[in-house]
Amino acid sequence: MKITRITVFNVELPLEYPYWLSGGRLKFESLDATLVKVETDAGLSGWGEGTPWGHTYVPAHGPGIRAGIQTMAPFVLGLDPRCTLTVERAMDLALPGHLYAKSPIDMACWDIAGQAAGLPIADLMGGGSRRPRPIASSVGAKTVAETREVMERYRARGYVAHSVKIGGDVTRDIARVHDVEANKRDGEIILYDVNRGWSRAQSLQVMRACESLNATFEQPCETLDDIAAIAGKHAAPVSVDESLVTLQDATRIAREGLAEVFGIKLNRVGGLTKAARMRDIALAHGIDMFVMATGGTVLADTEALHLAATVPDHACRGVWACQDMITLDIAGGRGPRNANGHLQLPEAPGLGVHPDTDALGEPVAVYEDNR
Ligand code: MG
Repeated sequence: MKITRITVFNVELPLEYPYWLSGGRLKFESLDATLVKVETDAGLSGWGEGTPWGHTYVPAHGPGIRAGIQTMAPFVLGLDPRCTLTVERAMDLALPGHLYAKSPIDMACWDIAGQAAGLPIADLMGGGSRRPRPIASSVGAKTVAETREVMERYRARGYVAHSVKIGGDVTRDIARVHDVEANKRDGEIILYDVNRGWSRAQSLQVMRACESLNATFEQPCETLDDIAAIAGKHAAPVSVDESLVTLQDATRIAREGLAEVFGIKLNRVGGLTKAARMRDIALAHGIDMFVMATGGTVLADTEALHLAATVPDHACRGVWACQDMITLDIAGGRGPRNANGHLQLPEAPGLGVHPDTDALGEPVAVYEDNR
């Protein structure tokens, strides 16, 4: 089987509500999504998606995905999409780094490989749990009152897991964490996501002020060096998210004991092939995981759900449904959807959901194998 054509679509995904990160430092109103259709000479086609969370969140750039695919396409066309390692190496040789540009191609290849094998991607990867995964909310708010309001909106939709975005004014962050913990319901899974918003000193100030709460803080400061510098000076469990990009990051975090949780985002780490290795590093070191898209449609959510299903139940804290935050549905309600705050793995072969091509507009690029 050979890849014969790669078609690229660019879709703007409006957010239902304006979204604030780091206590108001960064504002987002829509996401730049790249959808990729990979076709083969066997008649099978697969879909991939790359949707960074805007341009200011991490070093991933919507137009950069499309430029990266333009560079990599000649090296990917003609390969067997079922050989995901071969495709991965071809992309790594064609374009060092730029992992976020590779993940849509990787995703589409896994989709095709699953269809060819007659298995959902999670089963093709070795076996997927059918236990529904709790969806983490994404509580982008600034004040105590707004935080309560947004969390109630999610609770009304059945959510039991919450990612509360903090990382702005330290005093306000401490107040928000204490208020959320005081109003926490039985069984809720809560993560305080700082999104690199604090300095080392600010991190220690908040983590110490919240010490009695045993709250988990995600990516308190900018780099792994920062997180290493404060380790041992506070008692809070830590999740690493934005600083978990490469497998070398994963091994360092595990070896140096820098985190109790990995936040694996598929687009950031370069797709399922690379993320599966991080999962195994985490499991070998007693590290739990959240597995998510960086953003996007039901396609991106579903990709992450497949990897999350390959994480043993006890180690998987949750997933995400970015689809619930955007107003455009490119798949007409198909695919895994929020059911009482959880996502259920689809049973169809491959990814298990494809978009309505009509919803994507005209392609922005088509690459064909003319050899
Ligand atoms: Mg995060």
